[in-house]
Amino acid sequence: MKLKWFKVLLFTSVLSATVVWPVTGAPVGERGSPQAISASSVSFSSSGTSQSPIDFVNPLTTIPTNKEIQSIYYPAFLPEIKNNGGHEISVTDNLSFPVSGSKITINGVDYKLSEFHFHTKSEHHVNGTEYPMEIHFKHNNSSGQNVVIGVFVESVTSPTNVNETLTALFDTIPLTNESVTPASSIDLNRLLPSVDSRNYYHYSGSLTTPPYTEGIEWYVFKTPIKILKADLDKYIAKFPRYERLPQDLNGRTIFYK
Ligand SMILES: [Zn+2]
Repeated sequence: MKLKWFKVLLFTSVLSATVVWPVTGAPVGERGSPQAISASSVSFSSSGTSQSPIDFVNPLTTIPTNKEIQSIYYPAFLPEIKNNGGHEISVTDNLSFPVSGSKITINGVDYKLSEFHFHTKSEHHVNGTEYPMEIHFKHNNSSGQNVVIGVFVESVTSPTNVNETLTALFDTIPLTNESVTPASSIDLNRLLPSVDSRNYYHYSGSLTTPPYTEGIEWYVFKTPIKILKADLDKYIAKFPRYERLPQDLNGRTIFYK
């Protein structure tokens, strides 16, 4: 099944590479407006005291039940893969927000998926160590509150257990400022760690790009998904490094489940 999707995606991306993304109505990431994005900058600053990303270090506090992710509902959908000017890639559906009805539920409140995108290297660190990539799935509820799920990506040299969905997705990304729409759907559950490896860190932070708005609830999975180093290198060659460095914790609690 996965191999079939992979082949279809490869083929159709060539056919639809000239489709132009509609500017109006395009979802905006957990970062600020696309216009605010600068290439490969790692020296942002902000006067806030609850900024993101952070380094996940001890002590970790057991997450209370009312902060846990109760469910993740990501039905398969037909993706629209957008190159936001060569510095940022985002993936949405080609209808509108929310993406195919995808949502997560926390404390009985639904947060709908608006888009997801990639950072190289990872923005969050674990005990001072970074990963070569991090994926951000951005959601918001009817009150405009934002929740972002982060997934680390680890590069490996053996094809064993690499994430085929991620590999196929990267093969479709347009090189210039445009979007592509493959003919086959994508299952975002396959971009998450396996169901039995979904421990996560949780804390309250901010956007990681201007205007660095705070009040963003972050959930970052501990277990990375894997991609072949060669495929990651191809991605990095297409898209410049882009991440914000870890910010001061300033006494915030890091929860863990
Ligand atoms: Zn992000």
